[in-house]
Amino acid sequence: MKEQSKLVRSQAQRSQNREHSVPLYLTSSFIFDDAEQGRAIFAGEEDGNVYSRYSNPNTNEFIQKVCDMEGAEMGLAFSSGMAAVFASFAALLKSGDHIVACRSIFGSTHQLFTMLFPKWGITTTYVDASTPEKWESAIQENTRMIFIETPSNPGLELIDLEWLGNFKEKYPDIILNVDNCFATPYLQKPIAYGFDLVSHSATKYMDGQGRVLGGIVVGKQVLMDEIMFFIRHTGPAMSPFNAWIISKSLETLPLRMDRHCSNALDVAKKLEEHAEIALVRYPFLPSHPQYELAKKQMKAGGGIVTFIVKGGFDRAKRFLDCLKMILITSNLGDSRSIATHPASTTHSKLTDEERESIGIQPGTIRISVGLEDINDIMDDLLQALENSK
Ligand SMILES: *Cc1c(COP(=O)(O)O)cnc(C)c1O
Repeated sequence: MKEQSKLVRSQAQRSQNREHSVPLYLTSSFIFDDAEQGRAIFAGEEDGNVYSRYSNPNTNEFIQKVCDMEGAEMGLAFSSGMAAVFASFAALLKSGDHIVACRSIFGSTHQLFTMLFPKWGITTTYVDASTPEKWESAIQENTRMIFIETPSNPGLELIDLEWLGNFKEKYPDIILNVDNCFATPYLQKPIAYGFDLVSHSATKYMDGQGRVLGGIVVGKQVLMDEIMFFIRHTGPAMSPFNAWIISKSLETLPLRMDRHCSNALDVAKKLEEHAEIALVRYPFLPSHPQYELAKKQMKAGGGIVTFIVKGGFDRAKRFLDCLKMILITSNLGDSRSIATHPASTTHSKLTDEERESIGIQPGTIRISVGLEDINDIMDDLLQALENSK
């Protein structure tokens, strides 16, 4: 079956009730037919669910769909995106290990690298991802993992997946790990370029409607087995309810992404012509410095558009206050368009220079372009630009 059909048709095994739509398996544990089956399942000689901290039919179904899309051998579901990202480090790294990461990463991941991991003897070097020589010089004897996000948040800078996949071949012991949340597995498939692990916040486009939290890591079996051990004994498992919601949502992920992307490209093109806008960033805009790379490794540009409004910090805040339909909230990947001002919220703790280095200006606005009619989205953006002058 093709990807879209698998997303609709992959389903937890039908029960004796002959249900059409997948039931919600709200059960903490699963029974054994007899003591011998209990022994065999515990011993790993027979497949079967034991306890929902380890696995559950709803989470298994969700994982299967993401593995199919990413082309992964195995996956595990988590209670949130951060639980997934954290496990992809914590299960595999030990004291004395070193991570090389791109500079522009999700805020909480940056907190892990700078506040938590140093306490455990795990160190991180950030690199400017645009220059290959920087990667080379950042690698140390004890480097165990390379971690990236592409496109970055909110600067929408890209990292060349093929280049990194080839680079890694020189270092067989280094794990290549990517947070693929912004692109989704529909638009970008890093495993095809040699990545070992791919993590996602399923809270974003996978749920797509701003309802539940979730996360997932997929990748190589040997690494996933270690993460499985970590999950079993530390307990960051996804709730079956959230898995049921997100798995249903995945049926429409490609359809929703197509619309997110076409709306976002329209927004980007129209804003680029506007006199009150200093700069627009969108991967599939020909003015993006990495436009060719975007077209090579992404199916479309994604749902996020970043722009700099003329007039700086105060103008940007006034602009948000003038929006009528689009609300201000710190989520993304929702069917509803969302506006954020990184300099005063998500990235307010950074210095001006740090913000500048990851593409955030005082006047930078990030729009997570939703699924409303494009005319309504544009009307709201244009009236807010006019009224915030
Ligand atoms: C939101 C997000 C996360 C964290 O996910 P949660 O589900 O909120 O825990 C991690 N990485 C990226 C790129 C994100 O956008």
